[in-house]
Amino acid sequence: MGLVTDKVALVTGGAAGIGRATAKTFAAEGAKVVVSDVNQDGGAETVRMIEKAGGTALFVAADVAKKADVSDLIAKTVAAYGRLDCAVNNAGIEGKIAPFAAQTEENFDAIIGVNLKGTFLCLQAEIAAMLETGGGTIVNLSSIAGLIGFSGLSPYVASKHGVIGLTKNVALEYATSGIRVNAVCPGGVDTRMLDSLAEQVTSGAQSATDMMAPLHPMGRIGTPQEIAELIVWLSSPRAGFITGTAIPIDGGYVAQ
Ligand code: NAD
Repeated sequence: MGLVTDKVALVTGGAAGIGRATAKTFAAEGAKVVVSDVNQDGGAETVRMIEKAGGTALFVAADVAKKADVSDLIAKTVAAYGRLDCAVNNAGIEGKIAPFAAQTEENFDAIIGVNLKGTFLCLQAEIAAMLETGGGTIVNLSSIAGLIGFSGLSPYVASKHGVIGLTKNVALEYATSGIRVNAVCPGGVDTRMLDSLAEQVTSGAQSATDMMAPLHPMGRIGTPQEIAELIVWLSSPRAGFITGTAIPIDGGYVAQ
């Protein structure tokens, strides 16, 4: 038996990085998976990888910052698999690094729009679907940037603190409705997003690993698979008494 056998799982931002690893892990643990993203080629590739390994998945294109896209995504999930049991609100962008005084309204709106409003829109639609079938689980991607500040990243930090606030509030409001809602707070993870941040800070002089590994007490960054394992476990019945939490998974970063 897998951890989530016969569950229906949705992963936004499933075309790459942490989302792809999470979608593959859900499938390996027995779930039927809906992979969603704005990146159609990457999303289709994640589905191919799952099917090649013997799993079940489909891709639905959706921009989480657009309410109509999110409604369509949930409707297609329920039409295909009959229900929604486990949702992972993972789609996110890092935006531009700049000192606070130089942060633009455009950068702020873009980051808040995807990371925070996107999570809000997905939560509303996912919960409505889950209430139809007696409950479910939701994991939101926050970050260590949801727990502490990072110079140059004020809109991203605000968005990820906001994700934790939404997580706590929605967990409270649905605690007796069979819906558990948690956030995970990764440290540096080896994905395109971390590469982009390293490129912006060092203009190519240092890789993401070289820049970020020494900042973590364990002396390394995380892998997408390590984050996926926590997300799928939190989504499983093994974590049945856990709701409203924001769990660091960061090689000790926020313990410093
Ligand atoms: P990534 O850039 O590799 O993947 C993000 C995915 O989200 C991409 O496939 C992208 O196309 C998709 N996406 C972006 N905007 C979207 C939108 N509007 N609608 C739908 N999909 C959209 O990044 P990642 O590192 O895998 O990040 C996944 C999540 O983990 C993000 O929420 C990120 O903030 C968070 N996170 C990442 C790290 C890290 O170090 N990589 C650390 C902490 C938290």
